[in-house]
Amino acid sequence: MKRSSVTVLVTGGAGYIGSSVVKALGEAGYQVVTYDNLSTGHEWAVLYGELVVADIGDKDRLHAVFERYRPQAVMHFAAHIVVPESVRNPLKYYRNNTVNAVNLVEACLRFGVKNFVFSSSAAVYGIPQEIPVREEAPLAPINPYGQSKAMVERILTDCAKAHPFRYVSLRYFNVAGADTQAKIGQVSPEPTHLIVRALKTAMGQIDRLEIYGTDYPTPDGTCIRDYIHVEDLSRAHLLALEYLLSGGESVIFNCGYGQGYSVREVVEKAKEVTGVDFPVVEAGRRPGDPPVLVAESSKIRRMLGWKPRYHDLGFIIETAWEWEKQVVARRLWCIS
Ligand code: UDP
Repeated sequence: MKRSSVTVLVTGGAGYIGSSVVKALGEAGYQVVTYDNLSTGHEWAVLYGELVVADIGDKDRLHAVFERYRPQAVMHFAAHIVVPESVRNPLKYYRNNTVNAVNLVEACLRFGVKNFVFSSSAAVYGIPQEIPVREEAPLAPINPYGQSKAMVERILTDCAKAHPFRYVSLRYFNVAGADTQAKIGQVSPEPTHLIVRALKTAMGQIDRLEIYGTDYPTPDGTCIRDYIHVEDLSRAHLLALEYLLSGGESVIFNCGYGQGYSVREVVEKAKEVTGVDFPVVEAGRRPGDPPVLVAESSKIRRMLGWKPRYHDLGFIIETAWEWEKQVVARRLWCIS
């Protein structure tokens, strides 16, 4: 099938990861339609195809878009992603991440869309018993965010058994960094993620960086995460799409490098990259944080031929730092 004759509907395509995938799809020659309510996404971030500004909770709009564009595949990014917020406000997560995903899958079934790529999360594992964690590990999320994603995976599995419908679920570890051309990246008025917060502290936009918890059962007492560059993750999505379009069965993949860094190591690297010895303080644990999350990712490497390019933490932080400078230069936080 020629790529130019394949239309991909991308929910959340104006967001951080979605917009990176829209760019990769556009560059690869696919037709792209982004469906995004712009609650956290940005119009300027959608570099290819059309943008429909609407909510996935709005079934009528959703159906009208399926009717009009007749996509062959759906990539579903639109979701809330802040773990501590999900602990405080679980229904917000179950409604948007789970209930609205049901709307979307329902629309796929109704309009005969058989290929679905889902943004899942390492948060579905909770506190894994084995590190690196394999896809077969039990799902035991410890926060509503992870639970909201695990529930969608279950729904996808059941629908794939009942209907002519196949999915790839990509369990993201800690997505970080920015477009290597510095065209798009993360912009959030209240960033929560470690690397972004560290860089904003280096810029003087945040007074001091708090380390959430120094008494975890890890070598330096801080949490360990597997940081994956957003462009490597985007390529995983394109491979997943090609896999489905060529008839691949439903499957779940971890997306991470298999290499963990502690919060302290990330902070030191951010200081090295920026050249700024920014203020850091030790604080209490943040609710919902597992001590260690590192991916066993041989399955996606083997089955999809995924070859990550940007696994160097210093490089990931450099791209994020270049992007933070763009955000200031282009005053992007002021633009929707
Ligand atoms: N973290 C931190 N200070 C911050 C932000 C995050 O110590 O200002 C820690 C957080 O507690 C977790 C790790 O950094 O252990 C990664 O958190 P992030 O929010 O980036 O991603 P998550 O793992 O929650 O998806």
